[in-house]
Amino acid sequence: MTRLITAIPALLALALPAGAQEVQRSIEPVAGDVYLMRNNFHNSLLVVTDEGVVRVDPINADAGAWLNDTLPTITDQPVTHLIYSHSHGDHGSGGEAHPGAMVIAHEDAPDSINGVTADLRVGDTHVLELGGKTIELHNLGSGHDNHMLAAVVRPENVAFIVDVAAPRRLPFQDFGGANVDDWIGQIEAAQALDFEIFAPGHGAVGNKSDLDDAHQYMLDLKSAVLAGLQAGKSVEALKAEVTLDAYMGWGQYEAWRELNVEGMARHLQESGQVN
Ligand SMILES: [Zn+2]
Repeated sequence: MTRLITAIPALLALALPAGAQEVQRSIEPVAGDVYLMRNNFHNSLLVVTDEGVVRVDPINADAGAWLNDTLPTITDQPVTHLIYSHSHGDHGSGGEAHPGAMVIAHEDAPDSINGVTADLRVGDTHVLELGGKTIELHNLGSGHDNHMLAAVVRPENVAFIVDVAAPRRLPFQDFGGANVDDWIGQIEAAQALDFEIFAPGHGAVGNKSDLDDAHQYMLDLKSAVLAGLQAGKSVEALKAEVTLDAYMGWGQYEAWRELNVEGMARHLQESGQVN
């Protein structure tokens, strides 16, 4: 059975003060017993079993409170396990919304993840078995943050991968000062995983080939920016010139293409690859 639950009926939304009506929440089926909870532009993974619900990423406290209220529409089980994909505040705040849950994070995550302490710190791979589901956790290494965990759910073969890549969507702004080659390495680590469906931390669900496309985007961005810098062009000129036309239909193309060029240029200069 598939269901889609919408957070706030339109008429009620009109009655809310400005700001409150901007939050759009829903629970969207992905495959089998795997769902995405959407909270505006952030996604959280839900794996529903007869022994509890595994959630990856709390997003924030309001999202958790909403989920606790809304979970009974798909299961009578509460959130029993809370896994952090990484510790960035926009995905990893509000874990206190699930006080009874076992909290799991990578061993390199901070002691306090936005106020919540992990009960279990895992190494580079960890397997959680619950209610007939297997959730494999894999460290993708450093690049975007330094302790990114991807979660692969079986038997559905869904991978939840956050921020490192998303189907047909540009990476965030200027890469936030990250080593972009390491970031590309994180995508490659994700490509090495065995899965079929790509459930991302942002945007629409895709499949594994979308991860290959996201990897190719990074290589195309890198080679175009590197060639331009080596030819003595300015970053401003490259922002106009590196149009990456093949990716024009992707999410955030208009908003973030120039920032991606800027961030890649900064990385290539910082890492001494230009000369
Ligand atoms: Zn992040």
